[in-house]
Amino acid sequence: MVVHTWGFVPSKPDSPWIKVELRAESGAVLRVSGIPYAAALASLARIRSALQGMNVRWPGKSLTLHVHPALRTSEMTGLDVPVALAIMAIQGKFLPEKLSGLVSHGMLGLDGETSNPEPLSTHCSNRSLPPSLIVRAIGSRESFPNVTNLPVQECHHLSQIVAALNRPFIEHNLSQSEKAESEEVMHEWGKIKGEGKAKMWLCIGAKLRLHTILAGPPGMGKSSLVRAAHALLPHNGGNPAPFLAPHPSGGVAGLLGSWRRGQPVSGAWALANQGLLFLDEFPEWPRPARESLRHIIDTDSLYLHRAEGSASWTSRAWLVAAMNLCSCGHHPERCTCDPSERRRYRRKLSAPLIERFPIQLDVGGHDETECQK
Ligand SMILES: [Zn+2]
Repeated sequence: MVVHTWGFVPSKPDSPWIKVELRAESGAVLRVSGIPYAAALASLARIRSALQGMNVRWPGKSLTLHVHPALRTSEMTGLDVPVALAIMAIQGKFLPEKLSGLVSHGMLGLDGETSNPEPLSTHCSNRSLPPSLIVRAIGSRESFPNVTNLPVQECHHLSQIVAALNRPFIEHNLSQSEKAESEEVMHEWGKIKGEGKAKMWLCIGAKLRLHTILAGPPGMGKSSLVRAAHALLPHNGGNPAPFLAPHPSGGVAGLLGSWRRGQPVSGAWALANQGLLFLDEFPEWPRPARESLRHIIDTDSLYLHRAEGSASWTSRAWLVAAMNLCSCGHHPERCTCDPSERRRYRRKLSAPLIERFPIQLDVGGHDETECQK
């Protein structure tokens, strides 16, 4: 098992980010690379004592500790915390992935208290960020001088660091409005049980604006999935992204737009710019409305030519369509349609239209896996 994390050495102004790797395998040998052996032993002795105080057992394994770039003895005391975290990940205290985007810093006392060992360089720059995602930095605020684009979380004891790692990050680092936004998402998302795969794909669809079609029997929560997915769209200056769910009876005019008293009137597609356009009962929409979506999806623009005149709109709406499995709309167990009716229902959507929806999901199976947003 190999655990990766990041340390920080303020005395190296040009490359303060230190990659720390720890491998555990069977055996009882300690190998080190990139740091003096004696310094590694001293650091591990402090870590061992700190972990004992927290009832964390030392791994009875061979450990290989690799640090890059190489450090001198005087530079390496701040690595106690990242190495201790790597050992705790090996002992299963948290998932190793939690460390791969984390920068931590601090020297450990024998009781697990963290301190800031080095005289700090004020020239330290943050221009050389490590090549992986930085989630946050843990240590005292003074440990990260001039690191302005990195949220720093202060901890004074190893146990606080562990607690912080096991808490969702949103608590610490978001503005008030972003916090409210993400709570809303978690609330909506949390209300939906199961459907792990559908939720995962909707997250991806919302992020990348990939048009999505959901198929499944009625009453399986297609609409609530779509409403929850709407909460994933970025807010625009504090306002939620538009959500439009026009009814099929609105037809072409409702979807695309119309002319009234000599003025063009936007349809739902134009109004849903930067938001979500939900087309429920998709096969029930009039064919011209459905088929005109093909050109709209390709170009993000719409030209309406009527006797009264011409109008054009552009919109970057995320299209989510939903359909039942057959025209009777009953659950498959109670469906009264014969196979030809079912085929006819599915054939209402032409192949060129269907292939413009890169995400096609079946909803209402028995997928109980959960999606970690
Ligand atoms: Zn049926």
